[in-house]
Amino acid sequence: MMIRVAVTGAYGKMGREVVRAVAAEPDMAVVAAIDPLHAGETVEGVRVTADLKDAITASAPDVLVDFTRPEAVVQNVRTAALAGVDCVVGTTGVPVESFDEIATQAPEGVCVFVAPNFAIGAVLMMRFAQEAARFMPHVEIVELHHDRKADAPSGTALRTAERIAQARSAVPAAPGRETEVADGARGAVVAGVTVHSVRLPGLVAHQEVIFGGQGQTLTIRHDSIDRTSFMPGVVLAIRSVRSRSGLVVGLEELLGL
Ligand code: NAP
Repeated sequence: MMIRVAVTGAYGKMGREVVRAVAAEPDMAVVAAIDPLHAGETVEGVRVTADLKDAITASAPDVLVDFTRPEAVVQNVRTAALAGVDCVVGTTGVPVESFDEIATQAPEGVCVFVAPNFAIGAVLMMRFAQEAARFMPHVEIVELHHDRKADAPSGTALRTAERIAQARSAVPAAPGRETEVADGARGAVVAGVTVHSVRLPGLVAHQEVIFGGQGQTLTIRHDSIDRTSFMPGVVLAIRSVRSRSGLVVGLEELLGL
């Protein structure tokens, strides 16, 4: 049975990759590509349309994949999930709790899967950082992304900070904050972890988690060199949501990590 996939944000950088990746899978087909300001264009030979609700009625997708913007994603997921369509959400910049109510209201068996990062290496980075934090509680995160990213800090940095916070027993004092000469020099604090966001052309998605201890540091670094790094995770999620239900968060849930 072919899995029928609709893609919102299909004309964007990630959406375009998703259309390509889904089209390359033997058991999947892109049945709708939605991107309101780019209706009438084509992506990988698929015609882009403007309205998700109309697209669902016309193409009866099994799964929606959303890589859009923080302002658009919640409404898109509500439209799809309430229509009985499983959702795979990659858009960052909205709290995961925004999907709680939608997942509850959706028909029985519908899954809303949300992952701040679909790259296996990034998921492992978070896992290793969580492990290291048990033994090295002094830690800061530096995340680096392309200069058109809509949100800061990245969803991956937020999730990493939360996982570190779960793992370490005490939050060490952050020396230097009281001597901040220029506002923001010491970064943002997320779940007690300092996070620094770098935005530059030429970057894709990168993160360093730097632990400091007596006479030593440990750096865990992940680099997504291009957007294809996210596609095996997206394809796995498309297959997995068919047999899951309710709100599921994080690729680690699907990988058994
Ligand atoms: P992008 O190039 O700006 O693409 C977003 C696309 O969505 C644009 O074409 C945009 O159109 C379109 N859009 C806006 N509102 C829409 C709506 N209501 N319905 C359908 N399409 C809509 O951004 P990107 O780099 O692909 O990133 C998209 C999202 O994915 C971001 O939140 C980013 O942080 C996230 N991301 C997640 C992962 C992960 O692994 N989870 C990895 C990379 C990126 P306009 O340009 O006309 O507004």
